[in-house]
Amino acid sequence: MKKLISICVPMYNEAENVDAFYKQLTTTIRPLTQKYDFEFLFINDGSIDHSVKKVKALTLADVRVKLLDLSRNYGKEVAMAAGFDYCLGDAVITMDADLQHPPKVILEMVEQWEAGYLDVYGKRNERKGESFLKKKMSEIYYKLLVKFSKVEVLPGVGDYRLLDRVCIDSIRKMKETQRYTKGLYMWIGFRKKEVNFDAEERFAGETKWKFMDLLKLGIDGLTSNTTFPLKIAGILGGILSFSSMLYMVYILITTLIYGTSVPGYPTLVTLILLLGGFQLISLGIMGEYLGKIFHETKNRPLYFVQEYTGKKIELEKIQL
Ligand code: UDP
Ligand code: MG
Repeated sequence: MKKLISICVPMYNEAENVDAFYKQLTTTIRPLTQKYDFEFLFINDGSIDHSVKKVKALTLADVRVKLLDLSRNYGKEVAMAAGFDYCLGDAVITMDADLQHPPKVILEMVEQWEAGYLDVYGKRNERKGESFLKKKMSEIYYKLLVKFSKVEVLPGVGDYRLLDRVCIDSIRKMKETQRYTKGLYMWIGFRKKEVNFDAEERFAGETKWKFMDLLKLGIDGLTSNTTFPLKIAGILGGILSFSSMLYMVYILITTLIYGTSVPGYPTLVTLILLLGGFQLISLGIMGEYLGKIFHETKNRPLYFVQEYTGKKIELEKIQL
């Protein structure tokens, strides 16, 4: 029996890209179809355009195309988790619908998979069509993340990757609601292999990531992979206490020698503000983690599905 490869594509308002993506994908993988079966699982993440209609049209023309329609927009991370739950392949390839992930890399990924690697990830050579600021920020961010988290997250590595069934089953066991999938991939381990690719510009439409989304993902990445920020408060507190002790000794001595000194209002105000600031920041950091605990303890399902166009028999194989 042929091995099955699932292509998982989360999409949010990608109607303009679906057809071009499908066409480019299917032509590129044609040489592989002799050896492998394919399924193309489009995960609709609550699109408000015609994405669903477009994919449905494809399902009629090609039985390999399946639609998983989520009940609303959950964000890409959750959409991918849903994809992992519903894909049936022996290997699963996740990629974006906007053609920023060139399909030809799949050939190389599959080759590496056959060579025994279980997690073959695409690494961007260069980012076309992205602002200098965004590039720089993501660079700094990854440096910070790698420095502070015990899990090594690789810079330039996105969500274009091939995962063996073993990896998929491992990731499916991690039910955390605030997901930072890149961290999960590294956390599960398994034999990894890098393949390089040139990121293309978005085919049509605009990026769905607003600055605030990226900031949120960034904070999630840090707080779900490391508890280092929690220690900052302790460290700062230590430094402050120590230096204020020195300062106290200094004041004590000067007062003893020169008598009482009344001035000092500016120093006082500065110190109060500084300390107040530190305290609020540390409270904020704790709040961030507390919020995470709050969300996890609710133990809600990650997502709801309103339609899956795959076969019933296949659904039975998917044990949730
Ligand atoms: N996406 C999604 N849900 C969202 C936002 C994005 O499923 O809430 C999908 C989107 O349709 C695309 C992929 O995630 O296939 C990457 O999104 P985008 O191209 O906007 O991000 P960028 O490439 O700019 O990082
Ligand atoms: Mg994109």
